[in-house]
Amino acid sequence: MSVAFKPLAPGATLGVLGGGQLGRMWVHAAQSMGFRAVVLDPDPQSPAGLVSHQHIQTDYLDPVGLEQMAFACKAVTTEFENVPADALAQLAEKIQVAPNAHAVAVAQDRRLEKAHFVKCGVPVAPFAVIASDVDLDLVLKQNESHVAENNRPEHVSSSANPDGKTKINSNSNSVNLLPGILKTARMGYDGKGQVRVRNPQELVDAFKQLGGVPCVLEKMLSLKAEYSVIVARGHDGAMVYLPIQHNVHRDGILAMTLVWPGVCDSALETQAINAAKSIAKELQYIGVLCVEFFVLEDNTLFVNEIAPRPHNSGHYSLDACDVSQFELQLRCMAGLPLTQPRQHSPAVMLNLLGDIWLEKLGSEPNLFVPNKLGSDPNFSNLPAWNKVLALPGTHLHLYGKSEARKGRKMGHLTITASTADQVGAIANQAAAILGIAAF
Ligand code: ADP
Ligand code: MG
Repeated sequence: MSVAFKPLAPGATLGVLGGGQLGRMWVHAAQSMGFRAVVLDPDPQSPAGLVSHQHIQTDYLDPVGLEQMAFACKAVTTEFENVPADALAQLAEKIQVAPNAHAVAVAQDRRLEKAHFVKCGVPVAPFAVIASDVDLDLVLKQNESHVAENNRPEHVSSSANPDGKTKINSNSNSVNLLPGILKTARMGYDGKGQVRVRNPQELVDAFKQLGGVPCVLEKMLSLKAEYSVIVARGHDGAMVYLPIQHNVHRDGILAMTLVWPGVCDSALETQAINAAKSIAKELQYIGVLCVEFFVLEDNTLFVNEIAPRPHNSGHYSLDACDVSQFELQLRCMAGLPLTQPRQHSPAVMLNLLGDIWLEKLGSEPNLFVPNKLGSDPNFSNLPAWNKVLALPGTHLHLYGKSEARKGRKMGHLTITASTADQVGAIANQAAAILGIAAF
């Protein structure tokens, strides 16, 4: 049984499960609105724990930690996709929890997630669940029959569109899923737990490599673009959303987000916003939800996945909107009014990965990197912040992580300007200074 919802005024104590950068920015927003902020994360150096009023340093399912959280807080949220949904379920018996444990459990398992999209009637890319060798055999057999079918001379005219491109639909039985991407059903993020497979043998090897755990195989799509929509849904069912975000990924990790009017075709934007709203509503979701989308060459829109929390692609809202995704999360948790966000400047968000610290610009990668970020002004690989911040409209956000690793999100840069052209040009100048390949 969950406790009944009661509105909370600033001054109340709120908590977050997970102490990463999303939790840190949530703490900043909470404190700026006058809430007290508690973080539960086992890492004593966690980015959010370092800036919170109280840091409970236990595992997410530790009964003592959860008890302390329930005692200290009036409401709790989560910031890290792999915080066990069960921790939220346990807390919900004592204090307000948003989003609900069920919604988080759905987002944590690609099988449940895709079933939810199908239930909502939103289009999803062709996929198959591979949870056992039997499933694997079935997919391999399907592949064989597609290959045989394709080799029949009459096939080409019967299944291809007039423009010669094979039409993809969401019925996985009718589509050859290879080449594809095998993704573990659970615990993946930033492209982790994913293997790209070109042929049946690679699929067999990848399933083994991933430990034979339940997976989904998705067809490898030729993407024209990726977008995301962030919606916030209150206790009363009211919903607002941030402007649609155009995302550029490199090696499966978000590299850059572009946001301004016209960054997406308006019909697609409407479709994406409606899909995001229906996904949130069907989950009886409370809080901030991010929905990621794929767009194909012919403008087909597929939903990719959801994140039950603020999202990397929404960081620009801190500097370019009149309400940020973190403030929206707090308003949802506390039952404060949700006003439709307004973007006041075109924006680009550039992710700052550990690579920037690890590779000395203009020279060979430095393998002997000390891990004293920021504390040593003479540190040879310290990025040239003075040059970056000399560019107008640059906003630096660093997450306080003490060790740089390749692909690790260390911070981000938001760039705002009065036009899309200007913001794009400045973003590329910043990228050049930081040794990030041009976009
Ligand atoms: P993660 O949980 O790591 O974000 P995603 O499923 O969103 O996992 O995959 C990360 C990125 O990999 C996507 O944003 C996209 O760029 C690429 N990708 C994932 N699935 C596909 C696919 N089926 N076809 C083409 N690219 C894909
Ligand atoms: Mg993703």
